[in-house]
Amino acid sequence: MSSALFDRLTEQLGRLPGIGRKTAMRLAFSIVDNRELARDLSEALGMVWQKVGECSTCRNITENDICDICSNSSRHDSICVVHNPADLRAIEDAGLYRGKYFVLHGFLAPLDGIGPDELGIDTLRKMIDRFEVDEVILALDSTADGEATSSYIARILETHQVPVTRLARGLPPGASVEFADSLTLSQAFQGRQKV
Ligand SMILES: [Zn+2]
Repeated sequence: MSSALFDRLTEQLGRLPGIGRKTAMRLAFSIVDNRELARDLSEALGMVWQKVGECSTCRNITENDICDICSNSSRHDSICVVHNPADLRAIEDAGLYRGKYFVLHGFLAPLDGIGPDELGIDTLRKMIDRFEVDEVILALDSTADGEATSSYIARILETHQVPVTRLARGLPPGASVEFADSLTLSQAFQGRQKV
């Protein structure tokens, strides 16, 4: 089988995170085999492309200028800084937090050209001033990139009169000290609590 359009579809699907060449091709075959699916998918993609953008306040995804969370006056005036909209969704679904968010859409990576502008740091600072925020919670991954980004933001926010906290980390439930890596152990020690 040979079709330039099919190859193009495969190539585009392969740009998605976690999708290798074989998977991209399998997905492309599924789409080509099912005309109804192809139509529905193209409509959904077209609508997302046209209508879904970023909240001008917190950079969460939204179809409006301001997202539902920012425009909800019953949310607390704290800001939880997250890596991407998927992390925001996970925290929302856990139902543990009733404040606002700020979405970075990445981690600091100067060598890849991702700096403060790409992470929207100025927008975050404006948000802190505008809502008279009482706490900024850094809820970023416990990876080297996540840690570096957390430290950077904490340092930048020193000029604002706002407490900055980060999620407690350390041993996950059921983990053994013996098999924990040194980063996990050091975080477990730093995050230790009075019993
Ligand atoms: Zn928002």
